[in-house]
Amino acid sequence: MSDNDHAYFAPSFSDTWVRCNGALSLCHDLHKQGKIDLNETTVYMEQGTWAHDIAAECLRRKITPLNLIGKKFKGEVITAEDARQLNIYYRLCEERMNKPRTKYFIETRVHATDDVWGTADFFSFDSHTLEVIDLKWGKGVVKEVVDNFQEMIYAYAVVRKLQKAGVDIKNIILWIVQPRIPNLPVKKWEVSFEYLYKWVSDHMLNAVLRQKAGDRTITPGPEQCRFCPAAKRGCNRSNEVAHQFFEEFVVRDQDPRILPIEKVIHVLNNEEMILKGIKNIRKYAESVLMKGGEIPGYTMKNGRSNRQWIDESTVEKMLKPHIPESELYSKKMISIAGVESVLGKKHPLMEHINKYVTKPEGKPKLSKDDGSGKKVATIQQHFQNLIENKGE
Ligand code: SF4
Repeated sequence: MSDNDHAYFAPSFSDTWVRCNGALSLCHDLHKQGKIDLNETTVYMEQGTWAHDIAAECLRRKITPLNLIGKKFKGEVITAEDARQLNIYYRLCEERMNKPRTKYFIETRVHATDDVWGTADFFSFDSHTLEVIDLKWGKGVVKEVVDNFQEMIYAYAVVRKLQKAGVDIKNIILWIVQPRIPNLPVKKWEVSFEYLYKWVSDHMLNAVLRQKAGDRTITPGPEQCRFCPAAKRGCNRSNEVAHQFFEEFVVRDQDPRILPIEKVIHVLNNEEMILKGIKNIRKYAESVLMKGGEIPGYTMKNGRSNRQWIDESTVEKMLKPHIPESELYSKKMISIAGVESVLGKKHPLMEHINKYVTKPEGKPKLSKDDGSGKKVATIQQHFQNLIENKGE
């Protein structure tokens, strides 16, 4: 976070430092004390760098990742699945690269301020529209494009530079390509100039100025603590939300119906941290017991398991004379997604097959009200509809 390759206020870490003023200084202190290693890389980070390098290489050479299937890149073989997923990102960038009067940049360092800079995966612009495309290789956490701090910082940095060069950008479009998330690998957000600049001044610049002035206020929350290195060791506050939950809700055994609505929202907003806190306690208790320690009232037992054939082919031979083939074996047609991946979405047959595809409404589920998707009708609305239909 502070060497030549990374700004102190790195956009990739902005989810944390914009929301928690004390996070960066605490992380650096813990690093100096040897409690955490800020230069540590994980296998997921290495995989991400590998995928980004392939994508950048393909864009520079203008060759689709599909041409690299089976080839080795930095010691790893590129599988058909890797190539297919990277191709989603490649195609989106390629479309922009082929647009007339459009300039594009691949893996380019951009500066929002002297202290806030990073490397944008891809951006392109013509005389009035800027598009920033970010590749996310992770699949554990779904990244949203709306209000994505890292993307907003890159967009602001580029707009600032273009304005200085006299380019009058009017439209800003942000994209996130997370190809290993099957349902929605590509997300787009058209953000207004005013919204972007207000966010930069109210949040990003504000956070930088406060921290430079010595503000070290620690503010825990699900977004900022999720990838903060201090959450693992050294920051007690990261568990605060979970502790509050235990204290106020579990320990006093409250009924959700008598909880003030702010508490309900607080728990929902911090659901991930609370569940993580519970998981950590369970893991800790398991490790104590496995090491021979004691937790009164608890012990380790084998969980449920399913019976298995020891030697399936021998049993198969034994059963064949006794059970008709139609009952011995189960046969199931592949799913719609399976057909699409075998035939390809653009296969001529798909047009006819799609006439036999329907998508039932999903079960109502508590969701963030972010303006997207169709809202489920309430019981009162259902009654109202029934009354209105009767009256016709
Ligand atoms: S773990 Fe959370 S509360 Fe602690 S420093 Fe990091 S972001 Fe702030």
